Amino acid sequence: MPSAAAQLEHLDVLIVGAGISGLGAAYYLRREHPRRSHAILEARGALGGTWDLFRYPGIRSDSDLHTFGYAFKPWRGERFLADGEQILAYLRETAHEFGIERDIRYHTKVVSASWSSPDARWTVEVVNTESGARSALTCSWLLCATGYYRYDEGFTPPFDGRERFRGQIIHPQHWPADLDVTGRRIVVIGSGATAVTLVPGWPTSRRTSPCCSGRRPTSWQPRPGTRWSSVCAGCSARSVPTPSPALSTSFASRRCGGSADGSRRPPGDSSAG
Ligand SMILES: Cc1cc2nc3c(=O)[nH]c(=O)nc-3n(C[C@H](O)[C@H](O)[C@H](O)COP(=O)(O)OP(=O)(O)OC[C@H]3O[C@@H](n4cnc5c(N)ncnc54)[C@H](O)[C@@H]3O)c2cc1C
Repeated sequence: MPSAAAQLEHLDVLIVGAGISGLGAAYYLRREHPRRSHAILEARGALGGTWDLFRYPGIRSDSDLHTFGYAFKPWRGERFLADGEQILAYLRETAHEFGIERDIRYHTKVVSASWSSPDARWTVEVVNTESGARSALTCSWLLCATGYYRYDEGFTPPFDGRERFRGQIIHPQHWPADLDVTGRRIVVIGSGATAVTLVPGWPTSRRTSPCCSGRRPTSWQPRPGTRWSSVCAGCSARSVPTPSPALSTSFASRRCGGSADGSRRPPGDSSAG
């Protein structure tokens, strides 16, 4: 009597995730082990992972694409720090050119995986993200190329008084396609790579004055073409050591004349962070 696992569809290799890692793994698998059966299971309805999910204005790489891109498909773009759209196009082209897109099973989210030593295989449970239907398949090798963050919700720390803030709060992971920032008074919480790429793309005027705030100073170097006047003017708040995100928020909001209502620590209180 065959075990339940033995009756399921079996593949030699299952790759989870069709981002830059999963597509690259599939390429090498096809090239080095053409006789091995495999598939890429992708929870979303599109390939590209990070570069398809994040759509905020100004999104770009901070690695050069000659090293971030694939050795088997050298980057030919004019700019070595490419924007999100160009990276996504490069990934789509790669998947198409090498036949990898045929391996992708979209809307297939892996929800569990269990190893059986007697069967020497993984049983992988998946859910169809459109219909909710559950099913399972087995594989001998399971490769997780799932990235490092949650796709459904970006990290959202608690901010005291958030419920009293009357403005709009946006996480760059879910940027509204129709958001118009013209005339808005904006505070960016954080001064890392996302802030640095987001802020220079915004229109600046007397009424629109983006500010960044951060817990720790970040090291920046100028990039040709960056509108540093707008970044530096808005982001000088960043250079003041800020003991807590809440204080950062209130400090930056004061600079902007905004109304973010974070709990305030007295200046010089460095008990946190
Ligand atoms: C704005 C931004 C800029 C960045 N810039 C750089 C940079 O310049 N250089 C750099 O090295 N890194 C950068 N990164 C980090 C970037 O995420 C990684 O470098 C790279 O894109 C990760 O690729 P990945 O394929 O490993 O993961 P991801 O791109 O995260 O793709 C993971 C895929 O797995 C799928 N998945 C996840 N869980 C499941 C599941 N349970 N079942 C099925 N599918 C699943 C997801 O839907 C997704 O398609 C940046 C990140 C961001 C957000």
